[in-house]
Amino acid sequence: MPIATVNPATGETLRTFDALGPDEIEQRLALAMAAFSQHRTAGFDRRAELLGRAADLLDQDQQEIARTMTTEMGKPIAAARAEAAKCAKAMRWYAARAEELLADEHPAPADVDDAGATRVTVRYRPLGAVLAVMPWNFPLWQVVRFAAPALMAGNVGLLKHASNVPQTALYLEDLFRRAGFPEGCFQTLLVGSGAVEGILRDPRVAAATLTGSEPAGRSVASVAGDEVKKTVLELGGSDAYVVMPSADVERAARTAVTARVQNNGQSCIAAKRFIVHDDVYDDFCARFTAGMQALTVGDPIEESTDIGPLASEQGRADLEELVDDALARGATARCGGRRPKEQPRGWFYEPTVLTEVSAGMRIHHEEAFGPVATVYRVHGIDEAVDLANDTPFGLSSNAWTRDEAEVERFARDLEAGGVFFNGMTASHPALPFGGVKRSGYGRELSGHGMREFCNITTLWHGPEHQDA
Ligand code: NAP
Repeated sequence: MPIATVNPATGETLRTFDALGPDEIEQRLALAMAAFSQHRTAGFDRRAELLGRAADLLDQDQQEIARTMTTEMGKPIAAARAEAAKCAKAMRWYAARAEELLADEHPAPADVDDAGATRVTVRYRPLGAVLAVMPWNFPLWQVVRFAAPALMAGNVGLLKHASNVPQTALYLEDLFRRAGFPEGCFQTLLVGSGAVEGILRDPRVAAATLTGSEPAGRSVASVAGDEVKKTVLELGGSDAYVVMPSADVERAARTAVTARVQNNGQSCIAAKRFIVHDDVYDDFCARFTAGMQALTVGDPIEESTDIGPLASEQGRADLEELVDDALARGATARCGGRRPKEQPRGWFYEPTVLTEVSAGMRIHHEEAFGPVATVYRVHGIDEAVDLANDTPFGLSSNAWTRDEAEVERFARDLEAGGVFFNGMTASHPALPFGGVKRSGYGRELSGHGMREFCNITTLWHGPEHQDA
């Protein structure tokens, strides 16, 4: 895949970049080590000062970086600005809380005594250089939610970003440099995916985090496993959105539209499968379909646009294949199901609602990465839970109900890293984020995410004077 900015609204190639060669990669790795030796001993106050400065710079750059993101991957400009603001907020969150989240722990005196020690401390020390292989869909946020906790923990970052967002990737390196982080603390490596294995096998790279597709995750995890290096994987999702009879159906349907089409439908935590109780199915379907049809599809740089193009021509082709397969096997398109006639250029796709979807269709098991929803009818909570779990993925899920017994049932039985009740899934620095099953392992965000790339060190002290 060439490293290039190609505007998905027009298909026009705007800039191309050469990939780094072996000598340049070697220099970057050496620089990362030099930076680590400096950064690992900087105190929390100093790291927080630098990260806070990065947040301020990002706020100042918001308009410009938002335009870059929109041009590179097609998200509506208002969403791009919101993404930049969210990143600055997350940086401040980690700057303010890292010291507390990584504070030394002291086991109870009785346990210390039992372990033969006079004193025991558990300390979170940094691991070193962490390789981050990142996707294009939230080109700033995916990186910042790794980088902010990693840098605050004393690690250094090596970013291999998706090949279609090189300008956003270079912006990030520049941002951390301007904020005052030591040279090499956060570096962007403009390389294709073929170079990842060699970098990951280098002994100077301590660990890796990957957000992206299942095949990419499997490939990186198998190399890391071979090298016995820690990984965190945030992979795909096909989140369920269950609506039960006691729900506020109007609000559930309105929120469902946003939950499905955020980021032009290209979000791992977008609700993708809508599982609706028979009692409210017709009402929900009518409202949801009307909401999807009312969206404005168009140039993402225009403020009035709700949905821009898919990020790549291949991404649209993959989505079309899933929809065409479902339609050929008996699904009904309540709306959409094709390219919009009004946008002959670029990689647009109409917001689509499919019903009468069944297990023999690819879309039933595969992730639809675009503005396409499937809606299922169920007759009770057992059927709803079974259908919600009938997926290889387990990232997040949503349940709309005002019945406490149902809340407990979903909380117990939905196989996912999160269950969001009467609302849509969203990430937040304070909340652990990640999945189970084929959605990956490990967690990002919160203290849990920060500690993934720490050496949890036991400091054991015996008696200083041995009694005769
Ligand atoms: P992708 O093709 O897997 O790419 C993600 C990153 O992995 C890119 O930097 C890519 O580089 C690299 N890559 C691809 N194949 C690789 C390989 N064999 N070895 C090493 N690196 C490799 O995914 P995408 O299409 O950009 O993103 C969409 C997927 O990401 C969806 O499945 C979505 O659900 C998932 N996602 C998950 C989360 C989450 O938090 N769970 C968040 C966002 C997205 P190149 O660009 O150079 O190919």
